[in-house]
Amino acid sequence: MSDRPLRVAVVGSGPAGFYAASALLTADPPAEVDMIERLPTPWGLVRLGVAPDHPKLKDVSRAFERVAHRPGFRFFGNVELGTSITHDDLTQLYDAVIYAVGAQTDNRLGVPGEDLPGSWSATQFVAWYNGHPDFQDLEFDLSGERAVVVGAGNVALDVARMLALTPEELAPTDTTDRAIDAIADSGIREIVLLARRGPAQAAFTTPELKELGELAGADIVVDPADLELDDASAASIVGNTNATRNIEVLREFATREPAGKLRRVVLHFLVAPVAIVGEDAVEGVEIVHNELVAEGERISARATDRRETIPAGVVFRSVGYRGVALPGLPFDQARGTLLNGGGRVLDESGAPIAGVYCAGWIKRGPTGVIGTNKKDATETVQLLLEDAAAGRLPRTSERRDLAQVLAERGGDPVLYADWEEINRIEKAAGEPRGRPRVKLCSWEALLAAARPDPS
Ligand code: NAP
Repeated sequence: MSDRPLRVAVVGSGPAGFYAASALLTADPPAEVDMIERLPTPWGLVRLGVAPDHPKLKDVSRAFERVAHRPGFRFFGNVELGTSITHDDLTQLYDAVIYAVGAQTDNRLGVPGEDLPGSWSATQFVAWYNGHPDFQDLEFDLSGERAVVVGAGNVALDVARMLALTPEELAPTDTTDRAIDAIADSGIREIVLLARRGPAQAAFTTPELKELGELAGADIVVDPADLELDDASAASIVGNTNATRNIEVLREFATREPAGKLRRVVLHFLVAPVAIVGEDAVEGVEIVHNELVAEGERISARATDRRETIPAGVVFRSVGYRGVALPGLPFDQARGTLLNGGGRVLDESGAPIAGVYCAGWIKRGPTGVIGTNKKDATETVQLLLEDAAAGRLPRTSERRDLAQVLAERGGDPVLYADWEEINRIEKAAGEPRGRPRVKLCSWEALLAAARPDPS
């Protein structure tokens, strides 16, 4: 055991990573934290997932900035796990490693036609309009009149809403210019959201649902027949504030007469895609009407034999994210998370692997809002600190420094000061246009901004 501060690597710089770093840096005694991030930019989904018309949600980045300025914190962007640095390297360099890498892929529908051109995952669209540098080459054909969004979670609402925003609503946001133009020029007049279960089972939250009724350029359309609750659903919402409020909001939507706005957002319950159809590209979605069956606590959807095809030019599949296994670490395939107990990564026998932890979506699955990660990451750090106090961490007095290892390997990390330069340039570009920032959205532009030409 050594007297030096605990040295911890946090992999991933989204909310879970920053909340974990915060808990470590404010521990008694404080730990040292190196945060490792594949992209040249921090903040994970706060920068690249949260809808750009939700600037208040992005404000949490100010708290992350304060964390980053605490003594003992270093940021290493542009460092990819598995390429620049491996898990084994990290266990050599640090007393403990916390993986906070999120859920890097999306759930599949598992229906024919899912991979037709024009069938996209919400993840791709969200990353594209948010300026993620890996997604800027995508070409979304929004010329068709109807878009279908599959899923009834907040991401589905984000996608439906973004497709419906007017240029005036998009103008003060940090949506990429390309996405603003594409949405403004799109031929989409109707956005149909498909929920496989009923309104009482919808995963979205009430404030986000309400927003769909407040769009300048789109009417909201809900069929009152979709809102008739079966006995099990009616019983299930008693004491469930979110579901009860959702139903109230939906009932109010169902009373509205369309105001003749340019676009309509249609919420359709108890329907699920059975195929995405089209010759060479998406032409429609074949759906089946479902009925609900109560199976213990769970109210599930069961297909009826009523089917129909909704013509559509583009489909966005928004049926949840999924964690991706990390090389050399045990993975829980059923949950799509690292195998873990409260954030301690476990081996196949269920025993904790000394010094290896996880936080956020790769720990608990892709649920909850940004703030959920605070409690989640703090729990992980508490276990880590308990393990440290009990001498269960593999601590040695001699550890090499990540900066030195990366330098030897020809790595080119983007440090926190470099990111601050990117941040400054983006904000300066946004300021005269009344926007929070204009994002740099290619690797070249980001790295060039991080390494200003000295001449
Ligand atoms: P989610 O909340 O888990 O919703 C996934 C939706 O997909 C559910 O409605 C689910 O229906 C449906 N689904 C799953 N498999 C399906 C299938 N095979 N066919 C048809 N529908 C299917 O996931 P999410 O929307 O990706 O959001 C992830 C997390 O981020 C959530 O916790 C969300 O609240 C959060 N988030 C928050 C905000 C915000 O606060 N503004 C914004 C975006 C995301 P079933 O219920 O029937 O399975």
